Amino acid sequence: MSEIENIHVIWLPGQACTGCTVSLLNASHPNLLDLLTGFIPQAAGVTLDYHATIMLPWGDEALSAVNAAEKGELAPFVLVLEGAIPDESKAKETGGYWCVIGEDEEGNPITFNDRLDRLAKNAAAIVCAGTCASFGGIPSGKPNPTGAKGAMDYLGKDWKSSLGIPIINVPGCPAHGEHMAETLAYAVLAMRGFLPLPALDEHNRPLFLFEHTAHENCPRAGLFADGKNSHEFGEPYCMGTMGCKGPISHCDVPKRGFIEGVGGCPSMGSPCIGCTEPEFPDPPFSPFLSKAPASFFVYEKIRSFGGSADAVWCRIKDALIGRDL
Ligand code: SF4
Ligand code: SF4
Repeated sequence: MSEIENIHVIWLPGQACTGCTVSLLNASHPNLLDLLTGFIPQAAGVTLDYHATIMLPWGDEALSAVNAAEKGELAPFVLVLEGAIPDESKAKETGGYWCVIGEDEEGNPITFNDRLDRLAKNAAAIVCAGTCASFGGIPSGKPNPTGAKGAMDYLGKDWKSSLGIPIINVPGCPAHGEHMAETLAYAVLAMRGFLPLPALDEHNRPLFLFEHTAHENCPRAGLFADGKNSHEFGEPYCMGTMGCKGPISHCDVPKRGFIEGVGGCPSMGSPCIGCTEPEFPDPPFSPFLSKAPASFFVYEKIRSFGGSADAVWCRIKDALIGRDL
């Protein structure tokens, strides 16, 4: 084993609904217990030092790990963010706060943003659990009254940890539990030198999870190719006509399933709503159940030409963003 024996995890909630935590608890291969009990020997020695929802300590005792990490007394630690990051200056205008985690010695609230600022200076890695932390997600949907944003927008796209690791985004609403468990295990193995850092796409999503679209992974893709479309819920055909955004959403859930290999939006008869993408929940992903323009499906044709197809599509998508469907 490399020099890093123990790795701490601080799981910090911002503007979150805790759905990503529930999803992590449903992971099975590996599950959270596997990670914490050393099921993968090279990834053993991981402790979850702070998680507001599932930790046993409370009050000052619970926050002691966060305070220690802020002071550089808990190292190395992976900072997992769940939830978007608000603009506290907007809350200050009315004398309040959007998001607070504990108090200082004088009893003044400490905002989530202040915690993040201090922890980011010492973190060995930052992993964003879910679309809120990655890109702003639902709290940042128009008109975004709290000024919510994701970690890359808040800390800067070029932010790197003390170990030189960029922010790793694991989007999804919620993030898939096994996406999180696999990414955390991957990060631990990379920190110890057993693996290279995971390759990331242009939105800092691990390629091993997000390289392909939901459409490419969808068991109904053959029906799409045959022109067989569902027009009502419950029909077993392609749901492009019912608003499915699978062709422009990067996600392996239709193939992987959601819990124990079961579930996954289009495979179960629910149109993909694009929850892994930076623009979600705004257009071009909403309205969720409106038929997507035919141009969305042109992507599948362009890709078949190979080469710079992704770059061509990016330009098409950019032109569509912000336009109501
Ligand atoms: S990404 Fe979705 S499930 Fe996760 S905290 Fe945000 S709203 Fe909840
Ligand atoms: S459009 Fe949706 S339902 Fe149809 S094949 Fe693609 S991902 Fe599956």
